[in-house]
Amino acid sequence: MGMPYFINVILPIPLEKEFTYSISPTEAELLKPGMRVAVPFGKSKIYTAIVVKVHQTAPTVYEAKEIDQILDQDPLVTPTQLRFWEWLAQYYMCTVGEVFRAAVPSALLLESETLILRNEKAIIDETDLKDDEFLVFEALQHQSILRVREISDILEKKNVIPILNSLLEKNIIFIKEEVYEQYKPKLVRYVQLGKDYSTEESLEALLLSLSRAPKQRDVVLSLFQLQAVTKKPVKISDLATSANSSNSIIKTLIDKGILEEQFIRTDRVVFEGGHDHEALKSLNEYQQSAFDAISKSFALGKVTLLHGVTSSGKTEVYVKLIQEVIKNGKQALYLLPEIALTTQLISRLQAYFGEKVAVYHSKYNVQERVEVWNNVLKKETTAQIVIGARSAIFLPFQDLGLIIVDEEHESSFKQYDPAPRYHARDAAVVLGNFHGSNVLLGSATPSVETFYNVKISKYGYARIQRRYGDVLMPEMELVNIREQTRKKRMKGHFSERLLEEITETLENGEQVILFQNRRGYAPILECTTCGHTPQCPNCDVSLTYHQLRKQLRCHYCSYHIALQTSCQACGSTTLDTKGFGTEQVEQELQALFPTAKVGRMDLDTTRGKYGYEKIISAFEQQEIDILVGTQMLTKGLDFRNVNLVGIMNADTLLNFPDYRAHERSFQLLTQVAGRAGRTQKRGKVIIQSYDPDHRILQQVTTHDYVEMFNEQLYEREQFKYPPGNRIIRITFKHKDYNKLNEAAEWFAKSLRIGFGKMVLGPEYPPVARIRNQYLKNVLLKIGNDHSLVHTKNSIKRIEKSFNAISFYRGVRVIYNVDHI
Ligand code: ADP
Ligand code: ZN
Ligand code: ZN
Repeated sequence: MGMPYFINVILPIPLEKEFTYSISPTEAELLKPGMRVAVPFGKSKIYTAIVVKVHQTAPTVYEAKEIDQILDQDPLVTPTQLRFWEWLAQYYMCTVGEVFRAAVPSALLLESETLILRNEKAIIDETDLKDDEFLVFEALQHQSILRVREISDILEKKNVIPILNSLLEKNIIFIKEEVYEQYKPKLVRYVQLGKDYSTEESLEALLLSLSRAPKQRDVVLSLFQLQAVTKKPVKISDLATSANSSNSIIKTLIDKGILEEQFIRTDRVVFEGGHDHEALKSLNEYQQSAFDAISKSFALGKVTLLHGVTSSGKTEVYVKLIQEVIKNGKQALYLLPEIALTTQLISRLQAYFGEKVAVYHSKYNVQERVEVWNNVLKKETTAQIVIGARSAIFLPFQDLGLIIVDEEHESSFKQYDPAPRYHARDAAVVLGNFHGSNVLLGSATPSVETFYNVKISKYGYARIQRRYGDVLMPEMELVNIREQTRKKRMKGHFSERLLEEITETLENGEQVILFQNRRGYAPILECTTCGHTPQCPNCDVSLTYHQLRKQLRCHYCSYHIALQTSCQACGSTTLDTKGFGTEQVEQELQALFPTAKVGRMDLDTTRGKYGYEKIISAFEQQEIDILVGTQMLTKGLDFRNVNLVGIMNADTLLNFPDYRAHERSFQLLTQVAGRAGRTQKRGKVIIQSYDPDHRILQQVTTHDYVEMFNEQLYEREQFKYPPGNRIIRITFKHKDYNKLNEAAEWFAKSLRIGFGKMVLGPEYPPVARIRNQYLKNVLLKIGNDHSLVHTKNSIKRIEKSFNAISFYRGVRVIYNVDHI
């Protein structure tokens, strides 16, 4: 007998090391790094693990168990990915297992505790099912949800994962995930004649009954004719054109139940008939010179920043670059912040590249994610271009030629919880390096870090200073609401100037966007007699007053109570609100502009199914005149008819207790302002503030990015913040206040021995208790001239000693490298 064979695997759990299992010589021949195996773990658990190495060295401290089964014929994960995972784990101070779990779609990661559901909609030909598969199918008829472990008992088989994988592929079962909201694709509104009018008689009766509403009758007739040809629902916009009618008449018919409304996903309809692709737009001279600068910089192997003002046509430059890459048969990755991943952009890219575009999104359903994963892995042309949110960096690219990180300044590229707490932009730069691919970062308001990298010539640079079509940058006006309030010129939260501009804009038939970065009616409800404000019992924060739902809600946990009409402390009925949110702005608008149609876009109105898409499309179709919203409004939306943007109150942004607050305010305000006047007419922006002389507001109004950058850089150098330094934030978390305090103090003291003044804290964050867990942060600053690896090793050593102290057991220690 020869030497025994072993494999090292990564398990999807937060343990530091790889585990070794034993395999047979035949298995050793089949197995390659990146393939999945089902392995036993602990007393009774089964996990899907990834092979990293096949070898012949027996583990010394434990006896290797045998694997249960090989799950793949070919690797599911590439060698480059394995290297990338290693890098992420090392850099962001987590385990490779945690990266593995975040990287691979959960449907590919079955384990004994995974919950399995039956796909109610599956059309099943029982003869297609193998015996075991049929038994699972049958069991799920009796019990709607089963654990993998239970299925294993039913089949009296130790390992059922291959059977379940096969059922997943056949779409017969689902796995239950946390109830994420599903991805909300752009929906196009279609209508058809109601079911009651399917016969000729009923239709005739209908037309007769509409004889005194000729416009409505015309719509019905047009629809009937259109449907006679296609036998399908008709796009509302097509119907309006063909009946020469307005949306409001169509809406009346829908309300009456004569027409039925339907929403159909664009990405499902666009390619039905194999439409021709749109030709690429030819770049104007500014775009072209940016394109040339980018190409030159790429030739030098440099990561490059495209710094183009809002509406300068950056997307068209990206499109040109993508075209070049795919012409050479390579793959392209287009990263966007989750919320900017709207179908406005998806449809724009699909119009150029058709079915080559795949979308990858953490909220996409599992099947779709697995499909994209496999297509990328097999280098199929159907996923040659991937548009995705941050998790798309985990896809198994084979031949990646280009990575674009659009809106690179967006803080939502940083994963906050759980580990790996990675920054997708920074990770993308490393990924690009591993693949030898070009990396382009794009923004109208680059992050201080990125612009600093340009300044020290680490990154290349391309600039577009003009909006496309020579549209002027919006005209900015600051309004001093302190003064206006003193002179009693405010109506609610509106200054005279803002009201004048809204009135004029509406009169011109144009639309308005109003920005207030708080949802709800008011963040604080206060008793004017005793000063009591209702607090969340689970978190250290006051409850936000939501008037429409008549509730007080916590924005940090799900706690909410019905609105009280009297003070819980003293019984007084004189309750007052402090601060204001989007609901209040909406309400005031309705009183001030009773005939205008007001819409609201915030977490509360976009939560429902397709909520976000519905509001965007209603605004696009001008069914809404004034849209009030939170920062959701800022993200790369391209509305054609918006001529006025109002910032209700810039001060809450500026006063946020964070060293980035000023940079963020500049970015947010510039981005919202950028929604105004994207066509020929010059747009207008009104910023209301108590402190209009604030440097940042001056810089926003003069569009002076460089001055903002220089001042911020100077301040950050003074206080040893990035980009000249790195920061690692260490958060301690426990339900016992005293234990947490002691633990955090101990840790900070140990850090100070090695790092002295570079250790800040421990300090409570602004909300010091969330869901009954107390939080405390320690911030460690590390000069760029210091070794990050050594620093991390020291921290880990301190953590080891910390973990050995039994009193601190249970205190969670969370690392956030490059915390933002
Ligand atoms: P940005 O991403 O820089 O904000 P966009 O790419 O959205 O700007 O461009 C703004 C508008 O100008 C879009 O409606 C786009 O279609 C149009 N546009 C940009 N470049 C061109 C071009 N070369 N030819 C025609 N239209 C263009
Ligand atoms: Zn009171
Ligand atoms: Zn709470």
